[in-house]
Amino acid sequence: MPHVYVGIGSNLSDRTGFLGQAVKSIASLGVLRAVSPIYETAPIGGPDQGPYLNAVAGFDTDLGPLDLLDRLLEIERAAGRVRDEKWGPRTLDLDILWYDGRNIDEVGLTVPHPQIRNRRFVLAPLADVAPRLEDDIAPFADSLGAVADQSIRRMTGPYDVDGERWMLSIEAATELTRDGDVFHVKTPPDWSNTSGDMFGAFLSTVALRAVGEESHGQQPSSVTYQFVHGIPLGAEIEVSPVRVRGTGRSADYVVSLLVAGSVMGRASVSTVASAGRITIAPDVPTVVPLSQCTPVDELFAPFGRLVGASAVSWRPLERWDIPDLVDGSSDLFRAWSPNLTLGADDLFLRASAIMMPIDALIWTTAMHRLGLLGTREIVVTPTLDFSGRFPNLMTDPGWHLGEVTIDHMTDRSVAGTIRVWADDGAYLSVGTSYNLIPDTRYQIPDNN
Ligand code: ATP
Ligand code: CA
Ligand code: CA
Repeated sequence: MPHVYVGIGSNLSDRTGFLGQAVKSIASLGVLRAVSPIYETAPIGGPDQGPYLNAVAGFDTDLGPLDLLDRLLEIERAAGRVRDEKWGPRTLDLDILWYDGRNIDEVGLTVPHPQIRNRRFVLAPLADVAPRLEDDIAPFADSLGAVADQSIRRMTGPYDVDGERWMLSIEAATELTRDGDVFHVKTPPDWSNTSGDMFGAFLSTVALRAVGEESHGQQPSSVTYQFVHGIPLGAEIEVSPVRVRGTGRSADYVVSLLVAGSVMGRASVSTVASAGRITIAPDVPTVVPLSQCTPVDELFAPFGRLVGASAVSWRPLERWDIPDLVDGSSDLFRAWSPNLTLGADDLFLRASAIMMPIDALIWTTAMHRLGLLGTREIVVTPTLDFSGRFPNLMTDPGWHLGEVTIDHMTDRSVAGTIRVWADDGAYLSVGTSYNLIPDTRYQIPDNN
């Protein structure tokens, strides 16, 4: 399906409401892949008018460019858009920025949108969701420097709009299609930073979910994921879960993740018929004011940007509080995140949600300890080993609390233990280790 990026803008009345509504409408035109954070921006050109909110959405659609434009104009009209003066204030503006790499020059439609490079309010959110997107000339992100004088401000969320979350859920982002004994899933098309991001969590989630389809009512008790090879962005992954042993009470699965017939990664997933509830009272507060938390996108900011589909789409409401990470004086890091909205009855999805804070925490911790946090150096993933255990999935997690302790480290590897609790003190448990190899081949381009 053609992949498309649309710029969204609003500067009248309920701006976030219009943005949220627009994303929902866009989602109905195909498969939503990523939504950028919202930026507040000063108007450029046109009459004296109020500040804009801008964002970019990436999605796959079967609509051709002109049909898509018609549908977008329809969505604008439904939002009460009136055109009286050029670049005048508007409830909603939807511009096709990029359509599957095509160059279109027709009456009423020019693609890529000719103004992209002149507008920081387009370039910045576009770089968030598609940092490597380019036209025939160069990556769009290369033009950010030239518009640095335009004033914009990233809004730090929470990104729930109009009373509803409007980002992709884990469920949507890791949706599997079944093909006999194997499943297929596509990685996000633009994931600027596969190792520095939730890619391990994404892949372990995929493995968990595939096993969930085969588990005959059992629930996950643990997952370990190992990279054999880096997985290319946008790749179609074949996920094949094989039950290696099992009884009515427990089972073990080996899940291979293949791209074009080659094994890229492998997960071991164990399931049990039911697990008891274990409660260990954490000696930490169970509530932390949001004002003291750092949104996840800021946590990742030293690496250049909010990283694509995961940070934007999987954890829009998540917030982290890792003061020690900043001053570096402690081996103990803590993070908080609200529960992700997940099907209460889908325990495999719940387990997946727990993998997100695990991945974010251990990775950030490892970067910090290896002295890479805040540098543009990045690490390769193929040797990463990643695991989680889930004794208490029946518990409603509310807020997750994650705590990392470093058990061992060398100049290229960090082994740590992460424990995750629900906000009522139920121990959700997790152990993980990372083996990271600093490698400048994966440098992130500078986007300011
Ligand atoms: P700008 O195009 O500079 O952002 P604008 O968005 O304010 O200006 P509009 O009044 O919303 O301009 O759009 C005018 C017309 O532009 C639309 O009716 C549409 O036919 C045409 N157009 C040309 N290329 C595009 C594109 N890539 N995306 C959306 N509209 C486009
Ligand atoms: Ca426009
Ligand atoms: Ca427009």
